[in-house]
Amino acid sequence: MVDAGRGVASQLAKAGVRMPEVDVIVVTHHHFDHIGGLGDLIMSAWNIGRSGPIRVVGPPGTREVISALLEGVYWRDVNYRIVEERAQGHSMEPPMEMLEIDELLSATVDLGRGVELTVGEVEHGSAALNLSVEEWATIGCRIEFGGRSIAISGDAVAGKQLHELAKDADLLVMCAYVAASEIDNEGTRFLTEHVLAGAPQAAQVAQDASVARLALTHIREKTDSDVQRMCAELADIFDGEVIAGVDMMIIEVP
Ligand SMILES: [Zn+2]
Repeated sequence: MVDAGRGVASQLAKAGVRMPEVDVIVVTHHHFDHIGGLGDLIMSAWNIGRSGPIRVVGPPGTREVISALLEGVYWRDVNYRIVEERAQGHSMEPPMEMLEIDELLSATVDLGRGVELTVGEVEHGSAALNLSVEEWATIGCRIEFGGRSIAISGDAVAGKQLHELAKDADLLVMCAYVAASEIDNEGTRFLTEHVLAGAPQAAQVAQDASVARLALTHIREKTDSDVQRMCAELADIFDGEVIAGVDMMIIEVP
């Protein structure tokens, strides 16, 4: 699973995925809209009876975030459930024990069962805002399985690492906050250059990396027809197929 924004536990349930089945969570960065459901997800999996380890891969600070949730925000709940189980003659390890947390900026990880995960640091504001890696780091990722490849930008603007993650991918899932016509003021211009790509930038990344299909996500609220227009405009930049992402969408990678 890549990122755990608000409502992720209920969205997973709607998608028919049982929470204890989640083996790997990639946390791309620590903006609240990407980790708002993380504590809920881990606590739910633990409470429902997750047995094996859950691997969490994220940039520096990920362990601190998770520890703050499980050993801070939820410590009373964790303690309650452990005491409750003990009262019934069962033992229960705290949820922190079932996690294997890897803080990585650039690495390839074998996830087993033929799945390979590559992460790379992408640019999401740290350079423009002069933030250190400890203060702010964002990763994008690439998942390879059975000769197929999916790249996920995380929140990002174009850059060398993102290009390498996306190179020749069958599918690139990329943030595309605004359409070209919305980049009409200094604030949005700054944002799309340094923090979060707009649709034209996402299309350019896809074109430069020769990806087959581009799925846009993280789209600023607009009407369906404006979303369709935004995607259609990208044909001038990107030769491949553009998909406007919506919640619960399933994209098959042939
Ligand atoms: Zn973000």
